[in-house]
Amino acid sequence: KLSKRLQLLHDLMDPGRNLADIGSDHALLPVACIQSGQAATAIAGELNEGPYEAAKRQVASSGLQAKIEVRRGDGLDVIEAGEVDTITIAGMGGALITNILERGKLKLKGVTRLILQPNVGEDILRKWLFDNDYVIEAERILEEDGKIYEVIAAVPGYFSHISNDEVYEPKLIGTADHVIELTSDELLKMGPFLVEQGGAVFVKKWEWEIDKIQKVLASLSKSDLPEAKGKAGELEQELKRIEEVLSCMQ
Ligand code: SAM
Repeated sequence: KLSKRLQLLHDLMDPGRNLADIGSDHALLPVACIQSGQAATAIAGELNEGPYEAAKRQVASSGLQAKIEVRRGDGLDVIEAGEVDTITIAGMGGALITNILERGKLKLKGVTRLILQPNVGEDILRKWLFDNDYVIEAERILEEDGKIYEVIAAVPGYFSHISNDEVYEPKLIGTADHVIELTSDELLKMGPFLVEQGGAVFVKKWEWEIDKIQKVLASLSKSDLPEAKGKAGELEQELKRIEEVLSCMQ
């Protein structure tokens, strides 16, 4: 059975896709996608020996060698352009996912859906998607085993029914008597769909961020460095905005 986190990636796919799961580890996602019909074929890509062997064992023990190929290599090096239409990358930092996409750009031709789950650095990834004209069509947030995860599904601009201008235009959130306007940068940071959906997990994530910022502020207040004041000012501003967003949701 898939974890809640991987199940969300599975559910954000359309049926019958040709999937590449990059950094597949035990190949749990490709196996589940073939078994459910979400994928017709799959490639499990792995950089490292141990997980690569684990993926091969998993595919063999599920008897799906005819439909899932396990390939060893860095990022999108393991696929040819045009070979797959859907790519999943989960369980890594946003910077690493961004790096894999940037380095493998030529392989993205013909790929109509990216489903990504950064552990941290979601803002870096959203910025890359935006700069490269990928439009986010869906976002999810979930909590599992004491951790909070975000999942982002994006499609190339030419393939999307909405545009990035629409996704990132300043957005009003809240209720009639308490509304705030979020800037494009704030939407890149918090997630254009997640801010609209709100919910307990979203609130919890940003309460944790507030805690982190307060800890940094406490240590900055003890610093004599000239930059400390400026940095503290910026963080206080950020803190205030996050609190405003949360106050619209409770
Ligand atoms: N995707 C699975 C999941 O979400 O449960 C596994 C996540 S695991 C934490 C990250 C995997 O990515 C590791 O197995 C690691 O070997 C692999 N990995 C890291 N960098 C990679 C790269 N550049 N290309 C392919 N795989 C990579």
